[in-house]
Amino acid sequence: MLAEIKGLNEECGVFGIWGHKDAAQLTYYGLHSLQHRGQEGAGIVVKNGDRLQGVKGEGLVTEVFTAEKFKDLTGNAAIGHVRYATAGGGGIENVQPLLFRSQNGSLAVAHNGNLVNAQSLKHQLESQGSIFQTTSDTEVLAHLMKRSGFSAIKDQMKNALTMLKGAYAFLVMTETEMLVALDPNGLRPLSIGQLGDAYCVASETCALDIVGAEFIRDVRPGELIVINDRGIQSEPFTYSASSAICTMEYVYFSRPDSNIHGINVHAARKNMGKFLARQANIEADVVTGVPDSSISAAIGYAEETGIPYEMGLIKNRYVGRTFIQPSQALREQGVKMKLSPVRGIVEGKRVVMVDDSIVRGTTSRRIVAMLREAGATEVHVCISSPPMKNPCFYGIDTSTHEELIASNHSVEEIREMIGADSLTFLSVEGMLEAIGRPAINETCGQCLACFTGNYPTEIYADTVLPHEKELVKK
Ligand code: SF4
Repeated sequence: MLAEIKGLNEECGVFGIWGHKDAAQLTYYGLHSLQHRGQEGAGIVVKNGDRLQGVKGEGLVTEVFTAEKFKDLTGNAAIGHVRYATAGGGGIENVQPLLFRSQNGSLAVAHNGNLVNAQSLKHQLESQGSIFQTTSDTEVLAHLMKRSGFSAIKDQMKNALTMLKGAYAFLVMTETEMLVALDPNGLRPLSIGQLGDAYCVASETCALDIVGAEFIRDVRPGELIVINDRGIQSEPFTYSASSAICTMEYVYFSRPDSNIHGINVHAARKNMGKFLARQANIEADVVTGVPDSSISAAIGYAEETGIPYEMGLIKNRYVGRTFIQPSQALREQGVKMKLSPVRGIVEGKRVVMVDDSIVRGTTSRRIVAMLREAGATEVHVCISSPPMKNPCFYGIDTSTHEELIASNHSVEEIREMIGADSLTFLSVEGMLEAIGRPAINETCGQCLACFTGNYPTEIYADTVLPHEKELVKK
């Protein structure tokens, strides 16, 4: 599905490289391949000798980094970030990497995820005299590091990390080293690669591929990695790590050519489509997927059933960004601008429309109506994930139950609301089996909180809206 019209958005992507003369350019390419993770701002901080300097701006990577801007970005190490503005809101001050200067040197921070105790920590820090430059939760890390009392950056970071709760994949760079940390549940993907003598770190392996880096391994939950001119060192910063990677990374967020924990995202989605087909067991003439993220699942569905896969929906790739606030009414209009049914394919046909998830239901209703207007005789909606009933507090912008149609309505009610002939959701068990990974609490588990309500971390009162508190299981 198209992120802009679905109302389900990833918060960020990070890329870093240490020890390469073209560090800024490679970071640009890395960020470009992570653009799907955030389109509202981008930034790169480069280490040039003993100086950190950065360029950042609002908009797409190609809009922010002009040839003119690149002239200033020379150096042999860099970190970069693409942002989708949710936690802390938009504005240039919240675009990352955040760059802090002090007597002891500079510190650049890039963060993917969301801290669930950021507000409590901010209150605490402000009461002790801290003044925040941004409204982003990321800045908390820098303040905690500076207040830790340790002189070595690694010790400062280790100390600060023990106070943070929630989802974080951090890249931190100083004049002498790059530090990489993943939260104890490893909620967001983060991989390390090697390019000659240089080390790269990226939110997704597609970014390593694009710069020609060889994948080394995924960063482990609760791991702190230090990269400098002497090489790479790793140590756990906590002994209570328990993997719970975001299942929606497989379902929707990550690019199909990325691998997460050794599993290719396209292959996982295709498998989800196969399991979904067995569950749905529908007689139909064509299968179509909602571009782009549902196409893999639709192919799997078609392969499993023998019903032909067709391009029943076309995405208009040249819509570009609109600067219109996404109110409900405009969101509906947005669907029309961004997707078109192919009459010649769906007319007179019983159509299976595969999508990866339903958030508010508005988009599904519009697409079903479009397919009918184009002549489909039946529209069966098949969703390659379970009903999303609970908000995510880990960096996805669903923060209330009210926004989620499945939180307040049965499958039959949703079917009626979206106007489909049938509606099938993939079961939690089917989804896990299709991906090929066990649920949380086993050695390498997955977060399923938006489906099951079982959150892998404590959820802090300041993360949840007052009227939501009773709905969130601790
Ligand atoms: S709650 Fe859902 S979207 Fe959020 S991290 Fe967990 S699986 Fe991912």
